Amino acid sequence: METKATVAITRCQEYDPKQVYQAVKTSLEQVDGIHKLLSNGKKKVLLKPNLLSASLGPERAVNTHPVVVRALVDFFQKEGGAEVYIGDSCGSLRSGSTNKAFKVTRLDEVAQETGAHWINFDQDKHIEIKKTNGATLPTFKMAGIVKDADLVVSIPKLKTHGLTKYTGAIKNTLGVIPANGKKNVHVQAPKPSVFARALVDIYEEVKPHLTVMDAIVGMEGNGPNAGDPRKVGLIIAGRDGVALDVVASKIIGYEPMSIPTTQYAWERGLGVGELSKIRVLGAEIKEVAIPDFKRSSSFAQDFALNFLPGAVFAKFFDISTTATSSVCESNCTRCYACVKNCPVGAMSTVEGRVVVDKEKCIGCYCCDEVCDYKAIEMKRSPMGEVFVGIAKFLRIEKT
Ligand code: SF4
Ligand code: SF4
Repeated sequence: METKATVAITRCQEYDPKQVYQAVKTSLEQVDGIHKLLSNGKKKVLLKPNLLSASLGPERAVNTHPVVVRALVDFFQKEGGAEVYIGDSCGSLRSGSTNKAFKVTRLDEVAQETGAHWINFDQDKHIEIKKTNGATLPTFKMAGIVKDADLVVSIPKLKTHGLTKYTGAIKNTLGVIPANGKKNVHVQAPKPSVFARALVDIYEEVKPHLTVMDAIVGMEGNGPNAGDPRKVGLIIAGRDGVALDVVASKIIGYEPMSIPTTQYAWERGLGVGELSKIRVLGAEIKEVAIPDFKRSSSFAQDFALNFLPGAVFAKFFDISTTATSSVCESNCTRCYACVKNCPVGAMSTVEGRVVVDKEKCIGCYCCDEVCDYKAIEMKRSPMGEVFVGIAKFLRIEKT
């Protein structure tokens, strides 16, 4: 069987700096053409971790762990003699959040100890991207350094995601858009399937040279912010982010083609989507798979999506995924982070309580992504419940 992409899976059980460095090095040494990437005058290296939360520390498994970022800084400085930059824009739209995320993730210590430069994408110079290929996002702003760097390395965290089901290599590139730009992405792409296409537009523009996933401890259940940490014990690396998403999502029990971002990126020719055409090095998927990893969607939904043709796929995905936000009063601390983060002003306060205007809510999960108290409940539409119920009745539910 002809293989077109390589993904390296390396075991790594904990965030011990030596173990992580060794795992990252082992993974990268198996990646196609890594020596060429290092020796080809690629001196300005941008590391793009996932810094979703401005308040939750590394132990909560929301953001990429600093020990993994440190290992990559060390690797590129030692092996490639590179000047390393670390940059992102965090998930909160509030001003100052990205710098807070940098500190709470302890990347300030990494930068201080190694001399790596920190770039806050909300404040850095931006470039205007204009797409001509009938994209969902015809124009958007992104951090200028993404185009200035010789090498862009994406460092996603392995997590579930209520809106996109899974977040990995493709989804991680959303962070190159500065805070207010992210708001526009949600407004321009309000349906789940359209949002997935918008993410692929962004991924196409960034197209990292390399992706190294922090899958030592991932997040299961109600990701990307309110789920639970789950040990996976892996570093996963590859040049092709689509192929990496196929492998990583398979490890946690998804059918890769049921993940909209993976399917759309593959259809657009941005990477290899067929598992049979991916050369997996290091550990085998079946040895490291976690069948009981709690996903954010039902098995019925995954099963149906895996077999549905294009247009029906999008329809089914939208109906079975679209949800509106509700606030669970008993968990709510009235911090109002959600109110400030809603891109369409669907949240307000009445006598101190947070209320959601269901007519305005576009189900973007931006409130869920910033609530640190698991107080946001995303409720599927009645039609969505019927769809999932039918799938269960037809006995394609796992249980
Ligand atoms: S729902 Fe969460 S984010 Fe919103 S006010 Fe309550 S605790 Fe804060
Ligand atoms: S209420 Fe929450 S899910 Fe609804 S639009 Fe606002 S941020 Fe998005």
